[in-house]
Amino acid sequence: MAYQKGPLYEEGAYLGKVFYNRESYPDGPVYSCMGFPEGRKGVDPSQTGSCRGNDQLNRLKAKELEKFVRAVEPGALYIHFEDFGNYRGTQAVWKQRDPRCRKRWPDDDLRSLQGGAAGLAHGYSWLINRVSDAE
Ligand SMILES: [Zn+2]
Repeated sequence: MAYQKGPLYEEGAYLGKVFYNRESYPDGPVYSCMGFPEGRKGVDPSQTGSCRGNDQLNRLKAKELEKFVRAVEPGALYIHFEDFGNYRGTQAVWKQRDPRCRKRWPDDDLRSLQGGAAGLAHGYSWLINRVSDAE
């Protein structure tokens, strides 16, 4: 599973739904949050499901992962959420979060419990809790 069908993933089987950061679902306006600032081949990674402060989005992603776990029953999951190369890159992207994430996690420091650490953990918690309930 990948967060997009391309670029870089054109050759791999994409098994899931591409989620967007939306003000409301299913058809609300799309907005940018964390993600590589520049789009590639028409894909803007800052719009493809990256907002941790959007619990409607978190719920949809967690439900899809639960569906996958129930169907496949994998022995383990590798969830690779952040892909910004290194700590510095992840810190830079955290600073580009949208207003809803800024309000919820105001600290610009990626390590902060009022900042990046809490925001990123929040997203993982949605996935982990849903999968744990699926067992
Ligand atoms: Zn956000």
